[in-house]
Amino acid sequence: MLTFKRRYLFTGCLMLKTGLHIGGGEIGLGASGSLVVRTPDGKPYIPGSSFKGAFRSTVESLAPLVGLRSCGLMAGQGCPGAQGSEQDAFNRRRRAENWRDRDIIRHLQGGISIDGQTIRLCDTCWLFGSPFTASRIFFSDLYLGGDEEGIVQVRDGVAIDRDSERAVEGLLYDYEVVAPTQVFQMEVWLEDPTDTDVGLICLGLSEFLSEFGGLGGHRSRGLGRCQITDLEIYELDLTVDDLEERAKRLRKYLLGRTPADKMTRIEDPQDFINRQIEALFYKEADHAEKGSQ
Ligand SMILES: [Zn+2]
Repeated sequence: MLTFKRRYLFTGCLMLKTGLHIGGGEIGLGASGSLVVRTPDGKPYIPGSSFKGAFRSTVESLAPLVGLRSCGLMAGQGCPGAQGSEQDAFNRRRRAENWRDRDIIRHLQGGISIDGQTIRLCDTCWLFGSPFTASRIFFSDLYLGGDEEGIVQVRDGVAIDRDSERAVEGLLYDYEVVAPTQVFQMEVWLEDPTDTDVGLICLGLSEFLSEFGGLGGHRSRGLGRCQITDLEIYELDLTVDDLEERAKRLRKYLLGRTPADKMTRIEDPQDFINRQIEALFYKEADHAEKGSQ
């Protein structure tokens, strides 16, 4: 039996608009320098965890604009997903009352009251994962589309003191970047999402589709701007009530060998994204109405 009921696959290209620096080590460029991360055969790539982190912070900054909750992994937002006093308080209560797994989920959903504050897992922690819940979204490592020369460049900058953010006199800092216009192959899976999860993903995709995506280090120097192109979305939804339709989808899924064979390709990805984002606004209006009653 399949353990999931609804699944999405997002594929496309991630194109670098500016140089990209994802640090992969400090050796080889002198005392003060940083290499880009590479595969064992020496080609630069983007670890899925790096892309996930960048995508998560993009979604976290947008979620509150449509009335959803996001702690941004910072303490003080009433979410036990972030390290800090709320997580500590949640764990103390969990141990004291000897919660089982299902109790933990119930309390993450419904919230618990501690010192007059409600502590409840935020919408972005549900989607991207927390110390109590698995992530519903999975980012594959992104590899280069082609085999080109001159992919990596060395730039020299002035070393910046991390605390004062001022230049350190006389200290040069060499760092490698992956050259602009390079294209990486993207693959993102979403497993058993709620409608809110799908909406949140679409908020993030929308930013990356419109060149507002950011990734990697030295972003204050203009690095790491990137854009998603050639986006394709595939859907499998077994939550339909129509049993005949459900059987048809399941059969297609089990007999198919490629995502396109197994799942339903969304004809117009841009329209799909816009509809999911619109739905978040309706949800917000719904919340506001309920709140005022
Ligand atoms: Zn959170």
